[in-house]
Amino acid sequence: MSIHDPFDFQAGSLPLLISIPHAGTRLTPAVDAGLSDDARLLPDTDWHIPRLYDFAAAMGASILVGNYSRFVIDLNRPADDKPLYTTATTGLYPDVLFDGRPSFAAGQAPSAEERAGYLQHIWRPYHQQLQDELARLKAKHGYALLFDAHSIASVIPRLFDGTLPDLNLGTNSGASCAGTLSDRLLACCQQQQQYTHVLNGRFKGGYITRAYGQPAENQHAVQLELAQVNYMHEQPPFAYDAPRAAQLQGLLKPLIETLLAWGEQQYR
Ligand SMILES: [Zn+2]
Repeated sequence: MSIHDPFDFQAGSLPLLISIPHAGTRLTPAVDAGLSDDARLLPDTDWHIPRLYDFAAAMGASILVGNYSRFVIDLNRPADDKPLYTTATTGLYPDVLFDGRPSFAAGQAPSAEERAGYLQHIWRPYHQQLQDELARLKAKHGYALLFDAHSIASVIPRLFDGTLPDLNLGTNSGASCAGTLSDRLLACCQQQQQYTHVLNGRFKGGYITRAYGQPAENQHAVQLELAQVNYMHEQPPFAYDAPRAAQLQGLLKPLIETLLAWGEQQYR
């Protein structure tokens, strides 16, 4: 199997890891050969998220970015592919787009054997690096903060009614981080009027947030699902909108600073 460099990782100096599992656009030959015309433009990618969070890398956060497309394998689903939501969702190997259209041409999805290789050579290395980095942060700082960064189109009738709030914080219904931390993040959102927000609404946190958010182990995880309309064009070719992105960073940066300040206060 010709899998190479399943992720990019940059270690930082802060007790914070930003995980970006869905920004990858690389395909394997089998996926490239099988994608439907609708999927070939790679809708459902968390476009430009590394660029949007480049300020956090500059602050000293560690950054982990998956390089392969979610149409190869979804890094934010459990390895056993148990559904995360009781409502419509997509699985470890998405056979449909968010809007329900097929991801692959009829009979052209990769074989089970091929996909087992994706689990072994893409999913496992990403999660191993994530776990190793959380362990390193805890050894160095005594605690670790995990921020799982996502984005999605603001209107997807199959997944949610109406228009998604601008910022969707997920803490696995309160289980993935200390309550005082999510309170502080909410307060940060409430200090501005430009963007709407919700905590544990439609998006409560995917597998990464649920698996690694262990507040009793001094390991706190938060997912942020952003509505893409606030930093990019939601239609192909999904271009970055630098002026809008800069405005949104005006809230993202205080959110990350709030996260870090909470940790310093909690663990000093
Ligand atoms: Zn995502």
